[in-house]
Amino acid sequence: MVADYFTRNGIAYYYEATTMANDWFIFKSKISKPDFFLPQCNLVVEYWGLVDSPDARLRNEYVRTMRWKMAQYRRNNIRFVSLYHSNLSNLDYYFRRKFREAMGFDLAPVAQICPTCHIQVLDMPLHIKWHSSFRQR
Ligand SMILES: [Zn+2]
Repeated sequence: MVADYFTRNGIAYYYEATTMANDWFIFKSKISKPDFFLPQCNLVVEYWGLVDSPDARLRNEYVRTMRWKMAQYRRNNIRFVSLYHSNLSNLDYYFRRKFREAMGFDLAPVAQICPTCHIQVLDMPLHIKWHSSFRQR
């Protein structure tokens, strides 16, 4: 879901990046790898999906790992964004807001090619809306 979002928006990412583990000594074990790393902005994105797990023991263990990782990021001055299950309903809104908080600037819109009319489009949701209004006429 988060990966799809990055792909749709033309945001380059590494999933569970191992290449940077050499530079970032804290990320040597599987559990401590960041979910996503955006190389263009040097930003880690963590999706803490199991925070809402109904299994209490799993949840507690997960929250402990989450806190440990967050502390490591802060201690090493690694910029990161936290996403939660509740953010998925409006991922674009939450990600853009959290991105701005972490980076200090807005996520730049990336031009995408519309599959229907094959032109470059900056605001794809708006463009899709335009398509649907066009069809109704
Ligand atoms: Zn189009």
